[in-house]
Amino acid sequence: MGVDQQGLLARLIGELVKLPGIGRKTAQRLAFHLLKAEREEALRLADAIRAVKDGLSFCRQCRNIAEGELCEFCSDPKRDRATILVVEEPSTLYAIERAGGYRGLYHVLLGSLSPLDGVGPSDIRAQDLVDRLKAGGIEEVILATNPTIEGEATAIYLTKLVKPFGVRVSRIAYGVPVGMDIEYADEVTLLKSIEGRREV
Ligand code: ZN
Repeated sequence: MGVDQQGLLARLIGELVKLPGIGRKTAQRLAFHLLKAEREEALRLADAIRAVKDGLSFCRQCRNIAEGELCEFCSDPKRDRATILVVEEPSTLYAIERAGGYRGLYHVLLGSLSPLDGVGPSDIRAQDLVDRLKAGGIEEVILATNPTIEGEATAIYLTKLVKPFGVRVSRIAYGVPVGMDIEYADEVTLLKSIEGRREV
C-alpha cells in the first residue's frame, strides 16, 4: 500500500475511533471490513449517517429526537403539560412510550452527571429544565434516570435544582435491578415503576 492509500484508511480509522466504545483495534477491524465490503453496502452506511444528520435533530423544548423544531410529544396537544418525566436517553423515553400509560411530557438529558469523566451540569444542560419550570404550568417532575451511580447522582442534583420551584418531585420506583439500564426493563416493570414513584 502506498502512502496515500494508507492515509485514506488512517482517516477512516481516525473517524471510527472517535465513536463511543470503539477502541483503535476495533476501529481498524471495522475499517478493513468496509474496505473489503461491496461498494454499495459500505456506502449504505455513509448514506444512513447523512440521512440522520440531514433529517433529524433534537427537540427545542425537551431534547428528544425531532424531525422539526419540536418532537412528536411536545407538539401533541393531547399530552398533559403539567408533568415532565426526565430520562437520560431518548431510548428510555421510547421504552416508556411502548409501556403506555404515561401521558405527560418529557425532558431528555442526553447523558448523566459523571464528575470523574468530566461530565457536569452544563453537559446535561440542567438549566434547560429550570427554564421550563420558570415558564410555569409544571406541577410534577418525575425523575427516571437510571439506577446507576451516575443516574442517582443526577437525580439528587436535579431534585435540589427543581425543588425551589415548588413543584412535586418524584423518583420512579425500581423493580428494575440496580446497575441495569431501564430501557432494558420489560414494559410491565417500567409501567409499575412510574406508578410506584415516591416523592423526594
Ligand atoms: Zn420535545
